[in-house]
Amino acid sequence: MSLDAVPKDMRNLRACLLCSLVKTFDQFEYEGCDNCDDHLHMKNNRDAVYVCTSSNFDGLISMMGPEDSWVAKWQRISKYLSLSSNGDNCQLS
Ligand SMILES: [Zn+2]
Repeated sequence: MSLDAVPKDMRNLRACLLCSLVKTFDQFEYEGCDNCDDHLHMKNNRDAVYVCTSSNFDGLISMMGPEDSWVAKWQRISKYLSLSSNGDNCQLS
């Protein structure tokens, strides 16, 4: 697990539109998306961050062990990095 993916601030949070990872706008700009920046190229690209992320999401879930987590399996995010939301129909945990 990369602690770099943990949101550093609860304000200005945005969710990646492809994998639903939640970080701050600045984190997306400086680091890109940990799961899919190979495709979205948000690192050092503010315009891409605006286009490829959204501030419109309902909640957060977090996970520590994607491979072992039943929540990750249920959300179909077991192949993703450890911290994520699930976008529109997020379950609070
Ligand atoms: Zn992503």
